Amino acid sequence: MTELAIRTLEGATKTISAETLAMLRGRLRGSAVLPGEEGYDSARTIWNAMIDRKPGLAVRCLGAADVMLAVNFARAERLLLSVRGGGHNIAGNAVSDGGLLIDLSLMKSVQIDPITRTARVEPGALLSDFDKEAQAFGLVTPLGINSTTGVAGLALGGGFGWTTRKFGLTVDNLISAQVVTADGKLLRASASDNADLFWALRGGGGNFGIVTAFEFKLHALGPEVMSGLIVHPFADAAALLPQFRRVIADAPDELTVWCVMRKAPPLPFIPAQWHGKEVLVFAACYSGDMKEGEKAMKPLRVLGKPIADVIGPHPFTGWQAAFDPLLTPGARNYWKSHDFADLSDGVIKEIVGAVERFPSPECEVFIAHVGGAMGRVAPDAMAWSNREAHFVMNAHTRWRDPAEDKVCIAWARQLYEAAAPFATGSVYVNFMPEDEPGRVEKAYGRNYRRLAEIKRRYDPDNLFRMNQNIRPTER
Ligand SMILES: Cc1cc2nc3c(=O)[nH]c(=O)nc-3n(C[C@H](O)[C@H](O)[C@H](O)COP(=O)(O)OP(=O)(O)OC[C@H]3O[C@@H](n4cnc5c(N)ncnc54)[C@H](O)[C@@H]3O)c2cc1C
Repeated sequence: MTELAIRTLEGATKTISAETLAMLRGRLRGSAVLPGEEGYDSARTIWNAMIDRKPGLAVRCLGAADVMLAVNFARAERLLLSVRGGGHNIAGNAVSDGGLLIDLSLMKSVQIDPITRTARVEPGALLSDFDKEAQAFGLVTPLGINSTTGVAGLALGGGFGWTTRKFGLTVDNLISAQVVTADGKLLRASASDNADLFWALRGGGGNFGIVTAFEFKLHALGPEVMSGLIVHPFADAAALLPQFRRVIADAPDELTVWCVMRKAPPLPFIPAQWHGKEVLVFAACYSGDMKEGEKAMKPLRVLGKPIADVIGPHPFTGWQAAFDPLLTPGARNYWKSHDFADLSDGVIKEIVGAVERFPSPECEVFIAHVGGAMGRVAPDAMAWSNREAHFVMNAHTRWRDPAEDKVCIAWARQLYEAAAPFATGSVYVNFMPEDEPGRVEKAYGRNYRRLAEIKRRYDPDNLFRMNQNIRPTER
């Protein structure tokens, strides 16, 4: 029988006997897999190919009981523990080298109740799993823009996308969560049960426990939405971005427009001579009536001289997956992000300059348009506090060859530094790479202190530390 060498919380290596491993395996509904065994590589492989870690053991959970067993095992043996939902996070904290991986990716159930307009979602569900189920009833909750992202990590960090201006953040729509805390207990967190835990979970990431089920509020939208892309030559970007700023200043909550700057992919509606050349794309979605959507998008569609304009009615599930082909797993990726209260001339200049110096063909900068309903919640209503942000910029370098790591990472850092004087200072915790631990406090602003106190109450030994870590206040 196989013995197991596994990393502890203190960074040492510990041997787990074959009998102990067999006992764990015997009690699990799912499986516990070692390097080389079936399922091990699927459990440990995540979206960002920069992260290639090999945990000592992967517990592939099938339900809350498995999660409780795995947490109790990790705590009793003092093992370094990481938690994987959809495996999309840029920082790669879902996996450690040598530790215990709690893999939730097989727990994918999504149950929609069209009468109460609520959804119960397991933590391995991807955005596409959720949207397919919810759209069968013409219902949505706000999620992100890439359908292979995990609901769990996205929701715990905040979560925003095409419908956020209308319906708020993902966490604004969380009704309750089932959570396995560091002591191995399964708790319900909601406005009336463990309210402090519920406050912390809504933006505090994986710091407070492992969520085994989310309950979300749903809203009527779809099956089609007025949406699509308007593609412009990048040479016009410096002139177009201030006009974009003017147009969206008066936009209704239903209208969301993100700017994406990148080299044009070979899409059939983009003339071939533009493929591989820099373009500015307005990606727009109207979360409401089609005719109203057409009206609201008009001021955007008359700007400049677009190369292509494919705004029209599209199935919501298709629109939610529109960017998937550009964001497939397996590439090397590095991100740097800022929040902006407004899109100043100064920051536009820096972004335009950076796009002209892309270090590799798959890089992009996007500016997400947020605000609306998201901005009307009090900053201390829950952990997620960046309510004054109106724009979120992500400098996304993406490349294939490890030899390009240095130059690609340096490009993102340069844009980040140049844009910093125009930023609010806050940051979306889900867009932070692994090398920004000093920025976690800024991500939570004035809410950090309360988070650290709640962390002390629920996880005093910091068992859940493979994340953008909130350290428990000293006892
Ligand atoms: C291509 C791409 C597009 C994106 N687009 C958007 C977007 O439009 N909007 C947006 O808001 N975000 C977006 N994101 C960011 C996304 O929200 C984060 O990457 C998020 O962490 C992904 O969740 P996951 O479950 O897939 O990640 P994982 O890597 O599996 O998990 C991330 C972390 O969350 C914690 N965690 C995961 N599951 C649980 C759980 N059940 N209980 C406790 N802790 C848990 C763990 O600490 C883990 O390290 C995007 C990311 C990518 C890569």
